[in-house]
Amino acid sequence: MSSFSIHGVGVSSGIAIGRAHLVSNALLEVVHYQLTPQLINEEIQRFTDAIKTVKHDLEVIREQLPKNAPAELDAFISTHLAMLNDKSLSEAPKEIIRNEQCNAEWAIKQQMDDIVEQFDAIEDAYLRERKHDVVQVVERIIKVLLGHPSQSPNQTKDKQQQESATILVAHDISPADAIQFKQHQFAAFITDVGGITSHTAILARSLNIPSIVALQRARDLINDGEIIIVDGSVGVVIVNPSKEVLAEYELKQDQWQLEQQKLQRIKSTKAVTIDGTGIELHANIEVPEDVISVKASGATGIGLYRTEFLFMNRREMPDEEEQFTAYKHVAEAMQGMPVTIRTLDLGADKQMNPDSVSNCANPALGLRAVRFCLSEPHIFHTQFRALLRASHYGHIKILIPMLSSLTELRQSKILLERAKESLRKEGAPFDEGISIGGMIEVPAAAINADAFAKELDFLSIGTNDLIQYTLAIDRTDDAVAHLYNPLHPAVLKLIQMTIHAAEKYNIGLSICGEMAGDIKLTRLLIGMGMRQLSMHPSNILSVKQQILHSQMTRLNKQVKKLLHLSDIEKIELQVMHLHTEF
Ligand code: PEP
Ligand code: MG
Repeated sequence: MSSFSIHGVGVSSGIAIGRAHLVSNALLEVVHYQLTPQLINEEIQRFTDAIKTVKHDLEVIREQLPKNAPAELDAFISTHLAMLNDKSLSEAPKEIIRNEQCNAEWAIKQQMDDIVEQFDAIEDAYLRERKHDVVQVVERIIKVLLGHPSQSPNQTKDKQQQESATILVAHDISPADAIQFKQHQFAAFITDVGGITSHTAILARSLNIPSIVALQRARDLINDGEIIIVDGSVGVVIVNPSKEVLAEYELKQDQWQLEQQKLQRIKSTKAVTIDGTGIELHANIEVPEDVISVKASGATGIGLYRTEFLFMNRREMPDEEEQFTAYKHVAEAMQGMPVTIRTLDLGADKQMNPDSVSNCANPALGLRAVRFCLSEPHIFHTQFRALLRASHYGHIKILIPMLSSLTELRQSKILLERAKESLRKEGAPFDEGISIGGMIEVPAAAINADAFAKELDFLSIGTNDLIQYTLAIDRTDDAVAHLYNPLHPAVLKLIQMTIHAAEKYNIGLSICGEMAGDIKLTRLLIGMGMRQLSMHPSNILSVKQQILHSQMTRLNKQVKKLLHLSDIEKIELQVMHLHTEF
C-alpha cells in the first residue's frame, strides 16, 4: 500500500491516528448494470435480505434509544419501519429487478425517484416533506446493498474504543449530522468540501477533535479501513503512513497532549495582562451538555449558546417546555455566571434537517435568524417565554442574531415585551431586568453600531458572518476559502466601529466569532479594545496564556498603528509581530 498525503484546510487542531471510515452518500454511488436471467432470483434474494437487515438495524436502534430521547424519535423510527413494510418499497423493486433485469440498488433507486415525484406533486407542505423519510429509508437499504457497515449501533463493549480509533471521511457533513457526533467519540473527521467557519467546522472545534475540510478528493482517494493520520493544525492527511512516519506522529501526538495538560495549570488563573487589564473569557456552546466542558475550561460565562441545534434533526419544533428545560439546565449549571443565549439562527447552512434543501438561491441572504423569527412570531414568542422562564434560575442574557435594521430590533423587543406580559399575567417568575443584546454580524449593523448600542444592553460581534458578508465570501465554500481573511482592513474597521459604539454608550461588548478563539489574533483583539472574548471551551486556556504574557500599553500603541494600514499583507505581518516581538 503506497503512502501519500492530501492537503486541505485544518479547522480544528490536534493529531489523530486511526482507521478511515467512509461516510457515504449512498445514493451517489448507485450504478446501473444489467443481469443475466440466471442471476435474477439471486438478486431478488439479495434485495429481500437487505430489507430484513435494515428492519433489524432500526429495531435495534429503537430498543437502544436513551430513556430521555424525545418521544418523536421513536415515532420517527416506527415510520421508517412501516415504510419498509409497505409494498411500494418492499415488493415493487423486485418487479423492477425482474422486468428490467437490473441490479437491486438501481431498482430501489428507480422506485424511490417515482415515489418522490408523487410526493412532490402533493400540495400539503407537511406531507410533501415526508419524501425525506422515503429517501432516508432507501439510503439505508442501498448502504446495506453496497456492503457498507451495518447502520445499527455497535453493541460490543469496546464501542468507544473503536470509535476513538475511527476517522470519519466524508464528502460533506451537514451541521445537523455533525451535531450528532457529540454523542460519539470519533478520533477526527475530514471532508472534501467546506470552509473554515462553516458550522460543520465550528462543530469540529467544539467536539475538540482534529478536523480538516476542503480536501477535494479525500472520499475518492481513501479506502475504508486504511490507516490515516490527521494533522488538524496544518491541514494534512497522511494515508497509509510508513512505520517511521507513524512513530513520528505518535510522538507529536504525545507532545500535543502534554501541552494541553500543561495548560490545565492556568485553569483557575484570572485572564489578566502583565500590566493588569482583565479580559473575560467566555465559552460558545451548541447543546446543554456542553456545559460540562465549559466548567472544565475555566470559562467565566457563556458568551454564545447557539440554540438552533435544539431544533435540528427533528420534524417538530421543540415546545416551550422542552426549550425551558434546556435553557434552565444551562443557567443552573453555570451557577450565576452570565449565560448569553442566542435566539434561533436557523437558515443558510443550518437547516432543521440535513435533507431540507433551501429553495432560495442565496440562503445566506435569505430568511435566516431574526428575519425568520419575525416572520414566524409564534416561534419567537415560544422561545422568548422559555428564555424568560429560565432566567429565574440563573443569569441569562438574550442575544438576537443577524440584526441589520433597527426595525428588526424594535419588533423583536415588542415580541419580547409581549412574552413578558403573558408571563406576568400567569404570575410566572422571570428576571425583569434581563439584558438584551444584538449580534453585530452584518456590515450594516456594524456601520450603524451607534444606533444599536443606544437601544441595547450589549453587543456581540459575530465575525464569522461579518467577514462573509463584508467580503462577499460564502463561509462554507472551499473554492473561496483562501479569500476569507479576518485581517482584511474593512473587517478590522467594522470591528473598530463597533468597539467605539459600545464604548460611547458604555455597554457590554463581546466577540463570539471564530476570531475570538484564534491565538494568533488574541493580541490584536485585546489591543483594539476587546475585553470579552467568547470561544469554544477547548480554546480558552491557550488564549488565556496569550493574555497572561501580553502587555496592554505596548499592544495599544502597536495596534493603533497597524489599524491605519490598508494592505492585508502588511497587516498580517504586523499582527504576527505582536506575537513574536514581546
Ligand atoms: C458569527 O457569525 O460569527 C457567529 C458567532 O454566529 P454563527 O457562527 O453561529 O453564524
Ligand atoms: Mg453568525
